[in-house]
Amino acid sequence: MPSGKMHVIIAGIFFICILYFLNVKHYLDWTPIIYLPAFLLYTLLPDIDIPNSSIAPEFKKFCVLGVIIGFLANYFKPHTYVLFFTIFCGVMLVATIFTTHRKFFHSPLAAAILAAPLLYIGWKFALSAFLGYCFHLLIDGELFQGGVAS
Ligand SMILES: [Zn+2]
Repeated sequence: MPSGKMHVIIAGIFFICILYFLNVKHYLDWTPIIYLPAFLLYTLLPDIDIPNSSIAPEFKKFCVLGVIIGFLANYFKPHTYVLFFTIFCGVMLVATIFTTHRKFFHSPLAAAILAAPLLYIGWKFALSAFLGYCFHLLIDGELFQGGVAS
């Protein structure tokens, strides 16, 4: 299976090719390039359950910081979104510790759950993230196996 860097390179080339194809066929502009970061970030995300992957340590740091900052923010100024964010970070932190590689995080269900928070920013970001995540599963050859491959 490809490394994290290889996943990003393949996904980036794929995304730009799709945009180029859409430009040629339908005369769109290049503004959808703003969805590329979400696509590329989420193409790395399925490997958060591999301790030595490039994304796992950064993701755990993000979750720990998210829990701490979210807890403090909620304590001083309670807000529903901040509460959801804090719970999400906590659940993801626990999930990355207790899941085994190529099970839950290599499934389209995980793609949907992890892309859902981006709906708050916009549905196109969430869709782009979902597709990026699924693109990783496709490259790994596990898109249609639902995370049950050994
Ligand atoms: Zn993978």
